[in-house]
Amino acid sequence: MDNIKLANLLFPGIDKTPDYYEKLYPERNLPEGARVTRFAPSPTGYLHIGGLFGALVDVLTAKVSGGISYLRIEDTDKKREIEDGVSGITDGMKAFGVEFDEGVTGFGTETGSYGPYTQSQRVEIYQTVAKSLVEQGLAYPCFCSSEDLDSIREQQEAEGADIRGYFGKWAKCRDLSYEEIERNINEGKSWVLRFRSDGSPDKRIFFEDMIRGKIEMPENIIDEVLLKSDGIPTYHFAHCCDDHFMRTTHVVRGEEWISSVPKHIALFKACGYRVPKYAHTPQVMKFDDETGDKRKLSKRKDPEAAVSYFVEEGFPKESLTEYLLTLLSSGFEDWRRANPSVPAMDYPFNLKKMSSSGCLFDLVKLNDVSKNVISVMTADTVYERIAEWASVYDKEFYDVFSADPAKSRNILNIDRENPKPRKDIAKWSEVKDYVSYFFNEFYKADFTLPENISKQDAYDIVCAYAKAYSPADDKDAWFAHIKDLCEPLGFTPNVKEYKQNPGAFKGHVGDVSTVIRIALTSRRNTPDLYCIMQLLGEDEVKARLSAAAETWK
Ligand code: GLU
Repeated sequence: MDNIKLANLLFPGIDKTPDYYEKLYPERNLPEGARVTRFAPSPTGYLHIGGLFGALVDVLTAKVSGGISYLRIEDTDKKREIEDGVSGITDGMKAFGVEFDEGVTGFGTETGSYGPYTQSQRVEIYQTVAKSLVEQGLAYPCFCSSEDLDSIREQQEAEGADIRGYFGKWAKCRDLSYEEIERNINEGKSWVLRFRSDGSPDKRIFFEDMIRGKIEMPENIIDEVLLKSDGIPTYHFAHCCDDHFMRTTHVVRGEEWISSVPKHIALFKACGYRVPKYAHTPQVMKFDDETGDKRKLSKRKDPEAAVSYFVEEGFPKESLTEYLLTLLSSGFEDWRRANPSVPAMDYPFNLKKMSSSGCLFDLVKLNDVSKNVISVMTADTVYERIAEWASVYDKEFYDVFSADPAKSRNILNIDRENPKPRKDIAKWSEVKDYVSYFFNEFYKADFTLPENISKQDAYDIVCAYAKAYSPADDKDAWFAHIKDLCEPLGFTPNVKEYKQNPGAFKGHVGDVSTVIRIALTSRRNTPDLYCIMQLLGEDEVKARLSAAAETWK
């Protein structure tokens, strides 16, 4: 067979050679040991938390080695594509501070000199490589119809064949003559381009996975489709050309791709490319609410599988990356203790230290991490972030909250910016409720008392306090007034004393404060009450004390 003639018959329009692209996309000029990684999603518009997790591994792996990470859009599968399915992915990445050095940055935008970074714009490259494979006898056109392929499948099933697919005796088009091929083409029969595998069923391949160690698998023997009948490549072929020409050194991707590695290694080798290093990341799992079993986070069942969920809920970007890093790397928490104020993205991440078993995504733990992260932010930062979030996700709250920025900042500054800040807020969507008693637009009075305090006592406390209240008091004087209320009403200002002899008192100063707190905020637990009262202002304090007294009368 004259392969050159066949290649020209199949690809009359391709006039470049792979060498052209070798020069166009030269080896990267990076320091020894620098790693080039990529995140390569399909443009489905949906970014799974597992995708963000993988992207974080890409970015950190490149960063710690002084290398490059890039984002490539793999849109060769038209079935998975939606119009502008890219922004959902790039926005999700940006929202959580996962930034690539190169590649697609949004719908229709990109940066970097190894592009285009969208596969549908690289068809000529794939066809050039495909043509060269045909020239070398490493690929051939296959005219089998889908009925032909169905019948192969049925026969393989009936025979109980161990290996199924297009290979060996089943690969009917593998040895067509040039004349047969030409006739088929002249008759307008559609064809796909297949890889001519030289694999053997009894040979095995070995590769070193950076996370999982040595892996052994049967060699690929299937004559995989490289180009579909419309000339568009399959993912397998496209990613091999791209990872080569974009000079990728490390392929980090989900563990569901491990089974494809033999196929991919065969393709890299056939094309004459260096096989990249592989790192297959574990899946993100959760405990099922109903069965209690560990299972994969599911797009269908779990809202928290979508990165957009965390944007909508208002988790700060630092919290999610911080939490994902605790999942990614067992050393992260120790590092964090030793480096409390270094940005998480500066963590000296090591792929080899990643666990290979599925990691458990736990919203409760995320909330705790997030509370810590938010607690050390300044009031100004918290204010800006809340306002930014609310302007998109809760307009009604935004209008009220941002009407008097100084007031809102002061509210957020209560028990903040000190060595032991309160850890009450995990996400911005909680803030409206958290601060609602400061804003009459949202405040709903609820004077329910704890069981140990009677209405009569609460009434007496609130009336006595209304008399004692003096807006000009400093904090000590304010507290002294509250203490002074205790004894005449049968309470003790001394908690210790109460504990020693509880039968002798109705309660202690804490109970008295609780009554005042409920009267002013309708809550049993709030940040510093003195500061709250300063912010509510005299009129409001008085009005709320009277309203409570009215209810408890
Ligand atoms: N485009 C593939 C996906 O959608 C990427 C696989 C890879 O990273 O090689 O998951």
